[in-house]
Amino acid sequence: NADIAMYKSKDLGKNNFHFFTEKLNDEIQEKIHLQRLMSSALEEGHFHLYYQPKVDIKSNKIVGCEALIRLIDPIHGLIPPDKFIYLAEENNFIIPLGEWIIEEATRQLKSWENTPLQDLRLAINISGVQFKDKQLIPTLQDAIGKIDKNKLEIELTESVLMTDFDDKLDIIKKFKDLGLRLSLDDFGTGYSSLSYLKKIPFDTLKIDKSFIDDLQNKKDQSFVNMIVTIADELELDVVAEGVENKEQLEYLKRMKCEQYQGYYCSKPLPAKEFEALFLDHTCH
Ligand code: C2E
Ligand code: MG
Ligand code: MG
Ligand code: MG
Repeated sequence: NADIAMYKSKDLGKNNFHFFTEKLNDEIQEKIHLQRLMSSALEEGHFHLYYQPKVDIKSNKIVGCEALIRLIDPIHGLIPPDKFIYLAEENNFIIPLGEWIIEEATRQLKSWENTPLQDLRLAINISGVQFKDKQLIPTLQDAIGKIDKNKLEIELTESVLMTDFDDKLDIIKKFKDLGLRLSLDDFGTGYSSLSYLKKIPFDTLKIDKSFIDDLQNKKDQSFVNMIVTIADELELDVVAEGVENKEQLEYLKRMKCEQYQGYYCSKPLPAKEFEALFLDHTCH
């Protein structure tokens, strides 16, 4: 294997060999770089929330948004969450970061009060690791003391629910007691279990992008139809994720899906650009 380099380390004595792959080395370097970057990024203001519109399919109006985190590296530029959230979860940095996300989202909602954006709902993503944070409920309580509580929504993925279900359910019930809205993100992926829907008081189902990608496919149409029907039966709102073109939107309209999110309207945008998009026009 050309990738593998074998080193005889002088420092470690004659019989010690270090095996490693160049690739692994690169990954470790990247991990170290990211960890270093993240540890100072909160203080230095390198984390940003971007906002992606949620659009009402009937009226084409923007009715809400999802806050999505970005890390802006002064040298390498924008780093998407898939690159660093897992790392932040590994070393629990997601706990202070998660608190910052809640506070920042609250500041954003506050700044939209008494503006044309005042009716928008804002959703944040919460990681399973944040459930370990004793400050999570107090932080949320503090947040909703400052804003209209049903404007703030929490998105959870099914994977969050796969471990320590009962403990997590207790905390989720506290979210609801606080008056927050609750969405099941990436619905249909992972270990979708209808019992989650039975046990947890969700307000919204978000249909995963993987079902939307090939909506000309009959099977995918059936899945989306099924999810819309489940949502309708359970009186939940339903949002399609990852809508990229007019054809997909037409299918969703026919299926009576209520809302969508996707590049067809807009990518996630910095707050100022999101505000401009909202003020400028409706989506298509
Ligand atoms: P998610 O919560 O399911 O967010 C939707 C992802 O789909 C976002 O990726 C968004 O940019 C992307 N997306 C939306 N519409 C389209 C589309 O039409 N086409 C394509 N190709 N992609 C689309 P993003 O921002 O990279 O986030 C990825 C994931 O990282 C999120 O998935 C979420 O699980 C996690 N994440 C993002 N922000 C946060 C955060 O603040 N906290 C936590 N705990 N996780 C976050
Ligand atoms: Mg989400
Ligand atoms: Mg999602
Ligand atoms: Mg996702």
